[in-house]
Amino acid sequence: MDYAELENAVKTILTQIGEDPSREGLLKTPTRVAKAYEAMTIGYKQDPARVLGDALFTDYGCSQMVLSRDIEFYSLCEHHLLPFFGVASVAYIPDGKVVGLSKLPRMIDVFARRLQIQERMTEQIADAMMETIKPKGAAVLISARHLCMEMRGVQKQGAVTTTSALRGIFLKDIRAREEFTSLAGMSLKDRF
Ligand code: ZN
Repeated sequence: MDYAELENAVKTILTQIGEDPSREGLLKTPTRVAKAYEAMTIGYKQDPARVLGDALFTDYGCSQMVLSRDIEFYSLCEHHLLPFFGVASVAYIPDGKVVGLSKLPRMIDVFARRLQIQERMTEQIADAMMETIKPKGAAVLISARHLCMEMRGVQKQGAVTTTSALRGIFLKDIRAREEFTSLAGMSLKDRF
C-alpha cells in the first residue's frame, strides 16, 4: 500500500466534493483515511485457512453440531466502499476434527476485512470451514445492515439483509438444517 498515493486520492475526493483539504479540520484527514483503509482491508494479507488450521484438534467423540452465534463483523461493500455490518452465526458438525472456538470469529474477520458483497462472504465462510475442518457439514447465516442502502439511494433505514450458505449434511438432513436455522435465526431476530 502506497500511503502517499492513497492520501492524494483522498485529497482529490475532498476537493471534488467542494471541500478545502487545507482547512484545519481536514489537514490530517487523508492520513487518517489511509490508515483506516489499511485496517479495514487487512484481510487481503491474511489466510483464513491458516487461521483455522492453527487450532485444529482431533476429537472423534464430538459428533453434535458446534454453533457460534452472533459474531459481530464490519465490512465494506465493494460497490460503494461503504460499511455493511451485522452478525454471523456459523455451525459445523465435526467429523473427527474440531477447531478452537476463538478462531471462528477471527476467520470471519479475515473475509470481512476485504471489499465484499454479503452473499459472497457467506459462501466463502462456509467453504473455508469445509476445506479446513473437513466436517460433515457447515452452515452460515448472516444478517447485516448496508449503509449504501440506508444513507443513499433507496434509503431503507433499518432494512436487514439475511443470507445463508449450507454445505454437506445441512443440505441433505432436514433435522440438522432446522436445528441450525432455529438456533441461529432466533438469536438474529432478537438482535435487530
Ligand atoms: Zn453498496
